[in-house]
Amino acid sequence: MKFNTKTIHGGQSHEASTGAVVPPIFQTSTYAQPSPGVNKGYEYSRITNPSRTALQNAFAAIENGTHGFAFSSGIAAVDCVLRLLSPGDEIIAGKDIYGGSYRMFTQLFQKYGLKFHFADMAKPENVTNVITSNTKLIWLETPSNPLLKIVNIQAIASATKKVNPNILIAVDNTFATPYLQKPLDLGADIIMHSATKYLSGHSDVVIGALIVKNEQLAKDIHFIQYAAGAIAGPIDCFLALRGIKTLHVRMQRHCENAKAVANYLVKHPKVASVYYPGLENHSNHTIAKEQMNDFGGMVSFKLKDNNKEAATQFIENAKLFTLAESLGGVESLMSYPISMSHASLPDAEKEVLGISHSLIRLSIGIEDIDDLLKDLEQALS
Ligand SMILES: *Cc1c(COP(=O)(O)O)cnc(C)c1O
Repeated sequence: MKFNTKTIHGGQSHEASTGAVVPPIFQTSTYAQPSPGVNKGYEYSRITNPSRTALQNAFAAIENGTHGFAFSSGIAAVDCVLRLLSPGDEIIAGKDIYGGSYRMFTQLFQKYGLKFHFADMAKPENVTNVITSNTKLIWLETPSNPLLKIVNIQAIASATKKVNPNILIAVDNTFATPYLQKPLDLGADIIMHSATKYLSGHSDVVIGALIVKNEQLAKDIHFIQYAAGAIAGPIDCFLALRGIKTLHVRMQRHCENAKAVANYLVKHPKVASVYYPGLENHSNHTIAKEQMNDFGGMVSFKLKDNNKEAATQFIENAKLFTLAESLGGVESLMSYPISMSHASLPDAEKEVLGISHSLIRLSIGIEDIDDLLKDLEQALS
């Protein structure tokens, strides 16, 4: 199957007992067993649930994996990956990863004896230079948030595997989705998603995913999933699966609209800079073009007026773009990194990363582009 067919049919079958075309919401904690040790493959819903199975099969299919896992949130999926490790193990992570992942690494897992290095993933040497005999995991995210930097997944994976083929490569594929890039095909071992975002796509569910293509890794992850218990519930699984079926259509429009917004902002006299990997002057445009099928639905930009008042005025004036955390839904959203996602960073670190008072991040929805541009125009003026 090609990708657009996989989003609809990948790993799916009609419900066996009734022929229901759409897998129902199996809102049950437990399953009748006719006799001790006899069951239909389901015993207790923390371990397995048919609504979750259907979604997990879809996760695996769209990422070219063999096994998918659904968690109660994206961050619960990150937690599961770290539980594969033991005290003394070392992890090399990107410098500008999702703030919640950074918080989990440094404030939760460091105290259990895991050691984290944060590297600029622009060059594979920056990763290989800090590999030791204890390194077990590389954690990367591309495009990054909020400046949409691109990391060359294949280059990092192959350089790492040359040093030690047992080091796991994990990719947070939330911003790109498999519509744009498939990390397992590029040498990664684990894909993580906040399926809260584009995969579900309607801002109505918090849910996470892991996808792998290695039998042993799948066994280990399934064990942690039911032993630690951060599973996705049946209704959330139903919503995410429903979202995935239109992923390709939504992503196509997200990308088209984002490109138009980026091109509009670049020419606007009140805009100082635009961050969009599809722009030829974006610092990672070449690798973005090679690695991704298109450039995604996220656009960040800086106003020429570098102060809180100007940004606040723009944000309050916008009507269609709603100020809210999160991204990847059908509706356009915007966020103000300096006081939202990146508020907890020390000022010096904000400066290094380029998180200024003038920086605004847009999650471009799938509305009519004319209406989106009109809204930006009136808010800017
Ligand atoms: C939102 C997000 C997460 C966390 O996922 P939740 O579903 O909110 O737990 C992780 N990584 C990225 C890139 C995200 O955008």
